[in-house]
Amino acid sequence: MSRDASKLVAAASGPWEVVIGLEVHAQVTSAAKLFSGAATAFGAAPNAQVSLVDAAMPGMLPVINRVCVEQAVKTGLGLAAEINRVSVFDRKNYFYPDLPAGYQISQYKQPIVGKGRLLIDLADGTTREVGITRLHLEQDAGKSLHDQHPRHSYVDLNRAGVALMEIVSEPDMRSAEEAGAYLRKLRAILRYLGTCDGNMEEGSLRADVNVSVRRPGEGYGTRCEIKNVNSIRFVQQAIDYEAKRQIALIEDGGSVKQQTRLFDSRTGSTREMRSKEEAHDYRYFPDPDLLPLELSEAFISGLSASLPELPDAKKARFMRELALNAYDASVLVAEKETADYFEALAQGRDAKVAANWLTGDLFGHLNRLGKGIADSPVSAARLGELLDLLTAGSISGRAAKDVLAEMVDSGQSAKAIVETKGLTQVSDSDAIEGLIDEVIAGNADKVGQYRAGKEPLLGWFVGQVMKASRGKANPALANELLRKKLAS
Ligand code: ADP
Ligand code: MG
Repeated sequence: MSRDASKLVAAASGPWEVVIGLEVHAQVTSAAKLFSGAATAFGAAPNAQVSLVDAAMPGMLPVINRVCVEQAVKTGLGLAAEINRVSVFDRKNYFYPDLPAGYQISQYKQPIVGKGRLLIDLADGTTREVGITRLHLEQDAGKSLHDQHPRHSYVDLNRAGVALMEIVSEPDMRSAEEAGAYLRKLRAILRYLGTCDGNMEEGSLRADVNVSVRRPGEGYGTRCEIKNVNSIRFVQQAIDYEAKRQIALIEDGGSVKQQTRLFDSRTGSTREMRSKEEAHDYRYFPDPDLLPLELSEAFISGLSASLPELPDAKKARFMRELALNAYDASVLVAEKETADYFEALAQGRDAKVAANWLTGDLFGHLNRLGKGIADSPVSAARLGELLDLLTAGSISGRAAKDVLAEMVDSGQSAKAIVETKGLTQVSDSDAIEGLIDEVIAGNADKVGQYRAGKEPLLGWFVGQVMKASRGKANPALANELLRKKLAS
């Protein structure tokens, strides 16, 4: 694959290329855990959602949750991946206080989903494909709490046994920007599918970030893996820090050691957690309590038929049917709620105008308020009424912006605001001509200059007429009438 030279990192000894592969843990949206009926809701009191299976009481047996399997298959289909008709659950053995069984049930050699792909949308409007290596189902572990007591650590098993999808990418990304785009797109697909809520603050989506550096054209370098990073911004910071650290190390005559590292969000740096020599030997073996998971063709095709329109297809449709450019279309489909809002707004209206008001003006207000589109104080129907007043020439573009600000703050309709504030635009030619006559009469010198060929003065005249109308004259009409009057 050819690479954009701008992706290379310039260093004292020449350019370097950064290589990134991500292992994402996505919590499956499901009311119950992967192998037990215990609840999964976020924020419950510690150990309120722990079944005997999750606590690994002797003699308890796991029973697979069909919903979690469906969710994994849907996600695989959404990533255009191979769905494996037979997959196997293995025990991954290690000791940790938050893992009562002494092993995690995961999938190793035979995952439920194989190779797939994901298109990332870059800031310049282009797209690039990133390979998906695999997706497997596994259990989450519990959580050790070290801040509840001065001398003891506590364990909360609410998360123990919750279904996770581990989604592994190929080492196909070459910059922090691309890794950010990958995570945003993956999160969008999961949310469209309803298979993971994508909430990074609550830990529903977290990434292990593998980073190495190499000279352009050379084979892959030794990688470091930064564990459990829980925001896109932190992933990007970790990559930038790690790439710089590795380049400096090699340029100093050293070499990168394969390590697991931790990201410290306070300093924006990474530090060693363990080296490859200390890596676990998990002694994987098939879980004797679980049969291989076999999926029928009908089960898979049924799920395939139930998939919603996904972001790439929606983006292509917006470009094809509504003549939007790639950049606008990808912004609009990034969140399903935004796409739905946009479709309601653009219905029967100019799509480009709708896109601009949504992603420019309304997003600006939402950012200011720290709100998402789902909590927008102005509904698509209400914003639509504003656009209709604008298109009909009843208010000026300038006034429309003020009206929107007022709608956001007061929750009132556009019509009500326009009426109470007297913002209705003057589109009556007689009224505007009257104003033009006054301006012309009061500025004989400028009229002379204009008529002598100083045409850029037209803009100044329009400004004077707008001012005289206190911003209410229809500027296009003022422009047209001025042109006529000044010519005569
Ligand atoms: P493990 O399971 O031991 O962590 P894998 O070979 O499955 O190892 O790789 C895990 C992740 O590391 C994948 O996302 C892969 O793309 C990425 N990766 C592998 N080699 C490199 C490399 N040289 N540089 C960056 N990422 C890499
Ligand atoms: Mg790994």
